[in-house]
This record gives sequence, C-alpha cells and structure tokens, in this order.
Amino acid sequence: MLKFNKLQFTRNLTIRVKIWLFFMMLVCIVFILMWTFQILLLGPFYEIMKVSSVSGATKKLASAYHTENFTDCLLDSAVRNDMCIEILDKNGAEVRYECMFSGNCMLHNGSNDVYFYFMELRESETGEICRKIYNNTMQSEMLIYGCPLYNKKGGIAGYLITNARLVPVEASRQIMQNITIFIMVLLVISGVILSAYAAENLGAPIKKLNISAQRLAQGDYTVQFPGGGCAEVDDLADTLAYASRELSRTDEMQRDLIANVSHDMRTPLTMMKAYAEMIRDLSGNNPEKRNQHLNIIIEETDRLSLLVNDMLDLSKLESGTQKLDIDRIDISEKLREIARRYEGISEKMGYSLIFTGNAPYIINCDSGKIERVICNLLNNAINYTSKEDRRVYLRQINFPDRVRIEISDTGDGIEEDKIKLIFDKYYRSENHKREVVGTGLGLSIVKAILKMHGYNYGVNSKIGEGSTFWFEAPPADPINDINQQ
Ligand code: ADP
Repeated sequence: MLKFNKLQFTRNLTIRVKIWLFFMMLVCIVFILMWTFQILLLGPFYEIMKVSSVSGATKKLASAYHTENFTDCLLDSAVRNDMCIEILDKNGAEVRYECMFSGNCMLHNGSNDVYFYFMELRESETGEICRKIYNNTMQSEMLIYGCPLYNKKGGIAGYLITNARLVPVEASRQIMQNITIFIMVLLVISGVILSAYAAENLGAPIKKLNISAQRLAQGDYTVQFPGGGCAEVDDLADTLAYASRELSRTDEMQRDLIANVSHDMRTPLTMMKAYAEMIRDLSGNNPEKRNQHLNIIIEETDRLSLLVNDMLDLSKLESGTQKLDIDRIDISEKLREIARRYEGISEKMGYSLIFTGNAPYIINCDSGKIERVICNLLNNAINYTSKEDRRVYLRQINFPDRVRIEISDTGDGIEEDKIKLIFDKYYRSENHKREVVGTGLGLSIVKAILKMHGYNYGVNSKIGEGSTFWFEAPPADPINDINQQ
C-alpha cells in the first residue's frame, strides 16, 4: 500500500518538480558534508594535524642533532612552528632551550613539570610522549611532545621536549558556519534557477510530443513529432513518428479490407439474387436454362465460402489458436502428390505444371499446412502466369542444411515496391481482375504458416518475366524438432 502510494506520488510529479527535488537533494547532501567536515569535525581535524606537524618538526630537529647548524635549526624550528623547545641531557639537566611564550609555556614557567616529562619520556615504551594539557596562565590547551636524542653510536644522548599551543577553533568554526550557510543559500537559489532551466529544456519538448501524441490518438496521422532537448526525446519522437506511420498503414489496410471484402461479397450476392429471380420469373420451367442459372449460383456460393474460410483460417493462425501438428515427412513425395493432383486441373484449364527434383528429403512440419502453402502459391502462379506461355514450375532443390521449394510463373511479375506489400493482409494489386479467383488473403496465410514453422521465405520477381515464390525448410533433426520447443 505504502509502495503504491509512493509510486502514485512520484508519478504525479511534473518534470519541473522532480528536477527541483533532485537539485534540492544534492544541495542537502553538500550541506551535510560541509557541516560535518568543516564545522563538527573542525576541532578533531585541527588537533590531529597539529599533533602530526609538531611531532614531525620535533623528530626532524632530533635527527639534526649532530649537524653543525643544530643551534640555528633550533631557533628556526621554534619560530616556524611557534613552539618552545627544551633540550635535556640524559640525566634530565637542561642543556639548551628556546621559549616563544615569554616563560608562560609548560616547559619554562618555573614549575617542575619538565622533570616529570623527562621521567615519563625515559620510561616510555615507545620512546616518545605526547600530552595535551590545559595552561591556566595562557588560558589555552598546550601540546607537549618529547623524543630522545641519540649520540653518534646510537646511544641516548639526551631528550628533546617541545611545547606548542593548540589555538581554540571556536572563532574559526563560527566563521566557517556563516560561510557554509551563505554558500547553502546561494546553492538553493542557483538550484531553483538551474532546475527551472533544465525542466524547461526537457519538459517543453515532451509537452509538445504529448500534444502531438494526443492528436495521433484522435486519428490525425499527418501530425509531426518534433524532437529537441536531448537524444532520448529525439528517440521518442522517432518512435512516435514510426508508430504514426504504422497506424496510418494499418488504418489504410483496414479500409482496403472493408472495401475489398464488401466488394467481393456484394458481387456474388448480387449475382445470386439476380439468378434466383431469373429462375423464379423466367427459367423456372426451362430445365436447361434453370440448371445453367443454378450452376452460376453455386459458383458464387463457392466464391463466398472461400472468402469466409480464408478470413477464418487467417484469424485462427494469427491469434495462435491453431497449433502445428508436426510430423516427419518426405517433402519430395508430398510435392509429387500435389503435382499429380494439379495435372488434371492444369490439363483442363490448358496450363502445364512442370515439377523438378525427385530426391527424398525428410523435414519436420505440419503436413496439411505446408500443403496449403504450396497450393496457395501454385494457385497464384496459375492465376498470374502468362496467358500465352501457360506454364508453371514447381521445384525442389536439396542442400545439405535445407531444402528449397520454388514455385515460378512466367507472368507479368511484381513491381519492386509492391513486393513488400503482397504478404500483407488484404493486399491485392490494383489491376486485380474478377476472373482471377482469390481473396487477397492467400499470401497472408502462407506467411502466417511459414512464420509458425520458422522457415525462411521470399519472392524474386522481374517485371515482364515472372515471379518465383520460395521457402526453405531445415532437414528433420530430432534436436531441432519443433514439437520439442
Ligand atoms: P489474391 O487472392 O489476390 O491472389 P494473395 O494474397 O494470394 O491474394 O496475393 C496478393 C497479391 O499478390 C495479389 O493480388 C497479386 O497482386 C500479388 N501476387 C500474388 N502472387 C502473384 C504472382 N505469382 N504473380 C504476380 N502477382 C502475384
């Protein structure tokens, strides 16, 4: 429930608000980081750095103990690091010193503290001491650091103790705090301006696309989809333009379908009505005429049922309600059987079907549906082949990895730009004549069946020379058996 509400909430936000929210989140993160590191951790950071700088300076000084200019180093280091220095011999007696705090430091304030530091240093396991002590006179924290001095043989020659002041960071912290708040205010203002600019840049093209998409939804296919802003918006514009073209094509095809189907239904219905009336009014008593008219009515009924059956078959194939019934068949035998069946029809109609390719080839397929494919292609070839030549070819070409079935005619051929349309539903050439029996669905059924089988298919055509429709099936292979997929 909570998840749903959150989703609903973010879905309702505009791009402007979302971008502003992201900017504000970024400002908050920057604020938290600056506050934590610059304000809260300022004291501990300063202390760590001071200890490291004082211990580093003290050790460097100790390593210069044997050099000739050690005395100069002593003063130089005291001034540079603002620290007092005390050098003791190995018994704790003072050898030299430099004081930067006019005798107010923890080493030169006349107390016995130095001696305690010396004792501590001598007994220290690490050989070093590091103490933080509050100096009442100076009203400040002091840092005491000590380490041994070695003679040339590596033995202890004495001890070096330094005292530096830990400056209070409260004042600096206050300044940093004010600066941080000031930067945050600037960041919030620039965040609002930048997010408004970014939202305008991104949101405006999306708004325009939305308006165009609404016009598309209302059926205006002429609408343009302007891109702009960024690559993703350009991609969206391209996709919407593509969707618009496809929708327009589908719409046109549906209009064609209704026009074709109603035309193809109306013609036989008109003929059937006309001949039925003729039988009733004129030829009813003349058996010869009546039979002639009844035959026309039967032919028109066949034409109608062919159309309705094709429509039903295609819709079943495309909706997936018809499954493949896969068998191992010898395609050569199947082709020979079909060719034999066509022999009679082609002789009667004056066409000749020439079949080549006899070598057996076993494939896995739905035998009935593949037969439908071959018959649809053969019917088309017979319908569209040249009226002078009247020849149709059925070929089987075996390859090691596939068998290719070709159905060729010597008709007018198909124009290049029509080739990609002919497998579309309800497409029929403009010069389609009524004597050519067909519903405009034959090739769509071929395509649906071949696609279900996963076969490659296509058409090669040359204007004036004819067309060759083909498909290719792989050899039967138990591993690639479609039933097992
Ligand atoms: P139809 O019932 O119109 O033949 P099809 O789906 O079988 O429907 O074919 C669609 C269109 O493809 C046909 O109208 C025709 O223009 C074209 N066509 C199909 N086969 C051939 C062919 N062998 N030669 C030329 N054109 C063809």
